[in-house]
Amino acid sequence: MAAKRIDGKVISAYIKERAAKEAAQVAQILGRKPCLAVIIVGENPASKVYVNNKKKACEACGITSLEYALPELTSERELLDLIGTLNRDDAVDGILCQLPLPGHISEEKVIEAISPEKDVDGFHPVNVGKMLTGGDGFLPCTPAGLIEMLKYENIPIEGKRCVVIGRSNIVGKPAAILMQRENATVTVCHSKTRNLKEILLQADIIVASVGKPHFLTADMVKPGAVVLDVGINRLPDKTLVGDAEFAEVAEVASYITPVPGGVGPMTVAMLMQNTVMAAKRSAALNDS
Ligand code: NAP
Repeated sequence: MAAKRIDGKVISAYIKERAAKEAAQVAQILGRKPCLAVIIVGENPASKVYVNNKKKACEACGITSLEYALPELTSERELLDLIGTLNRDDAVDGILCQLPLPGHISEEKVIEAISPEKDVDGFHPVNVGKMLTGGDGFLPCTPAGLIEMLKYENIPIEGKRCVVIGRSNIVGKPAAILMQRENATVTVCHSKTRNLKEILLQADIIVASVGKPHFLTADMVKPGAVVLDVGINRLPDKTLVGDAEFAEVAEVASYITPVPGGVGPMTVAMLMQNTVMAAKRSAALNDS
């Protein structure tokens, strides 16, 4: 294998350690630990796993986690009322509502109901706007994690050509914006993109966020490119894989994130960082 494997477990452990230290400092000032409220509606098994991982990370970082597990048939009104209560609760620093939500609940309304000051997922339009204008809102965890990984590995971003495959609100679009904020020259591709391979072959950094196994093959990657694989795909035999055909792409790339153990753990670590930042703000501390 030519490429260096970027180890998301190691980097996320470093970020969580840093968050834990800051959480302890904030706790002294607040007289309580930073607190994250996590809401889950329904029985989606993947969501349950994600929520459990978040709870464990909170424990490891000295953050109180409050879990609100609501039944599938919870009404939109009930959910919005709970969010309103948590918004008003001074002992709650961050609020996260695990997506996807059941079809009868508007995700947009729920995201907009969370106070921007407690929106540690970084999905509220106020925080999305601040991300666009370079303000100091909360950044969405997965894309922010990509930037952290590159910085940790001392991989230059400035002036590099970055191609993002995928344009979702939670991964592709914000990843493109954050790469641009780091002075990369960014192209966003999607299902209607023509000549994808031609575009990808110009990329110094590829962010693959398609959600299709075996999508990115070695012939689409410029020798020496950096491949950040955001995809999480379950094969029929239950194996977890990313969007890249890992073994062959690793022969061509200079760096690559594995799945599992790459971008995934970073998302949770960045959530811890955002929660501590929210607590610091409610303690009116300066970010350091
Ligand atoms: P999504 O909302 O389904 O978006 C997928 C994107 O891929 C869309 O923009 C779509 O284009 C594009 N696409 C689909 N087929 C394509 C093709 N043939 N060529 C080029 N683009 C194509 O998914 P998402 O929420 O962004 O998630 C993407 C993947 O990341 C999933 O596997 C998800 O599980 C994973 N994920 C991982 C983490 C993590 O923590 N590691 C976090 C979030 C998501 P259109 O817009 O034209 O439809």
